[in-house]
Amino acid sequence: MNYKDYIADIPDFPQEGILFRDITPLMADGEAFHQACDEMIAFARKVGAEVIVGPESRGFIFGCPVAYELGIGFIPVRKPGKLPRETVSVSYDLEYGSNELHVHKDSIKKGQKVLIIDDLLATGGTVDATIQIVQELGGEVVGCGFLIELEGLQGREHLKDYEVFSLISYK
Ligand code: IMP
Repeated sequence: MNYKDYIADIPDFPQEGILFRDITPLMADGEAFHQACDEMIAFARKVGAEVIVGPESRGFIFGCPVAYELGIGFIPVRKPGKLPRETVSVSYDLEYGSNELHVHKDSIKKGQKVLIIDDLLATGGTVDATIQIVQELGGEVVGCGFLIELEGLQGREHLKDYEVFSLISYK
């Protein structure tokens, strides 16, 4: 399957100069979405994931089917003010703007093998912040999986110590 056929390229969104890769056509196509999830699931099995951690909000879309298929848990990483119980947090820079990520403090067990799943790897700021939180909570990051990797932004530089999977790459 040529997954790029299902990604819409949107210039100047959400601000001028950004070429936004819109994954919603892929999600809207049952076969493409199913196959993409299957490839993430194969990666999750390979790295021995015991729990999936996914950043808001598109990390939920790909992380949850993987967790469901493997019969393991899913832990949401959320923006400030969304989680109702005590959290740990890290500030991070995005490709556009900056933000803070939170995870419930009691969500990851010590030594648990964590696979981080998100829709897209750009500068790596989001996944880097997520790794910091997972480690602070005692989890072991065994891999990072993405639907899309924007190679030019060199997010992999943050991920040299981990197994990384991406289904679609843009130079
Ligand atoms: P990073 O932190 O710079 O690696 O940016 C990755 C995060 O920003 C992911 O959570 C993405 O959902 C979001 N993101 C950045 N660029 C795009 C894009 O072109 N399409 C969709 N999401 C994007």
